[in-house]
Amino acid sequence: MIQSALSTDLISFDTLPAASQSKPSPQTYLDNRVTKSQRENKRTRSQRARERLQTKEHLARLAVGLGEVELADKLQRCHSRLSVLTCGRHIARIIPNFTCEFRLCPDCGRRRSRKLQNKYLPAMRGFMLHHKVTPVHLVLTQTHRKENRKQSAKRIKDSFTRLQRRGFWKEYLKGGTWSLEFTKDKNGLHHTHLHIIGFRRKFFDIELLRDEWLAATGDSHVLNLKPIKDIAAGLREVVKYVSKPLDIRRFGADDLREFLGLKNMRMFGTFGEFRDFCKGFELSDNNDAMFELESLARDLVEGCACPQCNEPLFDLRMSGKELPQFYEQTESSPPGKVRRSSH
Ligand SMILES: [Zn+2]
Ligand SMILES: [Zn+2]
Repeated sequence: MIQSALSTDLISFDTLPAASQSKPSPQTYLDNRVTKSQRENKRTRSQRARERLQTKEHLARLAVGLGEVELADKLQRCHSRLSVLTCGRHIARIIPNFTCEFRLCPDCGRRRSRKLQNKYLPAMRGFMLHHKVTPVHLVLTQTHRKENRKQSAKRIKDSFTRLQRRGFWKEYLKGGTWSLEFTKDKNGLHHTHLHIIGFRRKFFDIELLRDEWLAATGDSHVLNLKPIKDIAAGLREVVKYVSKPLDIRRFGADDLREFLGLKNMRMFGTFGEFRDFCKGFELSDNNDAMFELESLARDLVEGCACPQCNEPLFDLRMSGKELPQFYEQTESSPPGKVRRSSH
């Protein structure tokens, strides 16, 4: 089914103030993969936009090869025409003509990850205040076996279920969120990790947690645990794996075929008391800055003042392929009357 509804819920992150885009400190994460995504953060917007285009072209080619013509067509139309609300130097909002909603589409993934952040960040802040718990980022890994992606994901999720039933876990952790990350090594072995934001009731010895994970998996004690200082940054870090479950540029036709078979696998979820808290949490109860900004961007139209420099915004129509170049122009234009510095 083909639809060309004008999606209005894609709002560029460029309207967020610099403070809320602050990167997690290098010590926050130990893990290679996380370091990799920190490097990705350092790339310019134009570079990232160009990579998204390349990823989509690569996926569309693979889809054609598999005879998935409809998918290829959707990917090619997704974000192919854009309405860009800009002052010339900043981009306040991007509205695409069409969104494919394919799980591996990097443009749709960005929107999905923003939605998750808007949904869960206020709830996380509310939960932390209410229960006086502190957030940690826990990465759980498992031993490598010859198995497909689905088996690998099921194995780690089952282990996590067993972990949650253990007394230790219940005593120290009050729930949180989980997300799946898939990687594949040179030998074609799947590595599946669980990224968990856990709300800790009290401190515990990491060695005890390793023992617990070993008991739950039967053969793995490898994990990383780090406190999260900024919950917004921590959440952004873990939802990244939802928008980017794997390195698609190294993706072959077999990988795509396998991924298409995963269709309904959940990649993100909540657990424990946080899960129940989210059910009862009213979005209107919060006055979260990010949510407000998002609503603000939603209301922006041509003629409004640019949130970053107050110059009037105008609507620029362009093709998706022109966006990286437009980002380049905005990156190289001299800084305008950027909003008053906070220090
Ligand atoms: Zn898409
Ligand atoms: Zn501006």
